[in-house]
Amino acid sequence: MTDTASEKVQCLIIGSGPAGYTAAIYAARANLKPVLYQGIQPGGQLTITTEVENYPGYPEGKTGPEIMMDFEAQAKRMGADIRYGIATKVDFSGHPHKVWIDDEKLIEANAVIISTGASAKWLGIESEERLNGFGVSACAVCDGFFFRGREVAIVGAGDTAAEEALYLSKLCTNVHMIVRRNEMRASKIMQDRVFNSPNIKVHFDSVTEEILGEKNVTGVRIKNVKTNETEEIPVGGFFVAIGHQPNSEIFKDYLEMDETGYIITTPGTSKTNVEGVFAAGDVQDKTYRQAVTAAGSGCMAALDAERYLGAKGLH
Ligand code: NDP
Repeated sequence: MTDTASEKVQCLIIGSGPAGYTAAIYAARANLKPVLYQGIQPGGQLTITTEVENYPGYPEGKTGPEIMMDFEAQAKRMGADIRYGIATKVDFSGHPHKVWIDDEKLIEANAVIISTGASAKWLGIESEERLNGFGVSACAVCDGFFFRGREVAIVGAGDTAAEEALYLSKLCTNVHMIVRRNEMRASKIMQDRVFNSPNIKVHFDSVTEEILGEKNVTGVRIKNVKTNETEEIPVGGFFVAIGHQPNSEIFKDYLEMDETGYIITTPGTSKTNVEGVFAAGDVQDKTYRQAVTAAGSGCMAALDAERYLGAKGLH
């Protein structure tokens, strides 16, 4: 890691979902000259969804990628400096705050807004990694189309898994839902819909032993944890819907987090335990996790940053 290329900025925003872009819009309008690094997935999680019907202002609905292009265009029009790059290391021990981009470029920022979002969780088995993109997916609405007319499996038992199983049931011949306990976590209404779908079969008390296939998914071997019996189900697609984890790893030496890695902010604000470091969006919200709530918290972070910089005489 080299520190040769360093740059000083007033307000650095890390992440480009609804929270990051909204923070950029507000920070730019407040003349904080924000620099935003987009991260691994420019546009964030909405870019891997299709139709979004519940974002206010789009009465006819719009696709996730289109909405995020609108966010980006608006942030750019306000003057935000939007860049490709991934924050790989931070040092929040002094002032200004230090953030390294792509392991080489050092940014020194008076205020940092973290809006790195959350990512899908994976089972962590070898066959899942090997066949990722070859029949294994964490997004039914993105990839379900490829498996229309075929049989698929989905692991998970929360609202996301139920929602995705229902989505897949409209495209696929049969959907096998693999549930590790003897009950589902999903809300009652979603469970009822799953149980009332004739082509969704729920396998309770079941864990995924292996996803089968050499080049592409051809099946899945599941084990009933009560009887220890295994079963091989021929499927062409295997979907993982077991929740999300916040993208907060690089901040863990400096910021207070809960036991699952969500950054803790002072209630009613975006302030973290480090002065001048603010958090917005899914990286600090495990309750609502909506684009509109993320956008709202991005606005809060920009206003908190502006007030902080003003109070410190830095703006
Ligand atoms: P959740 O954390 O609610 O559920 C994750 C599910 O995955 C649980 O059923 C869990 O099992 C299971 N799971 C976790 N790890 C494993 C593993 N290693 N192997 C097998 N199964 C595993 O996540 P969701 O993404 O479903 O939902 C997140 C939040 O978003 C919730 O609050 C939900 O209500 C909300 N949401 C609401 C929607 C709606 O209202 N339409 C749609 C989507 C999400 P176990 O139950 O045994 O822990």
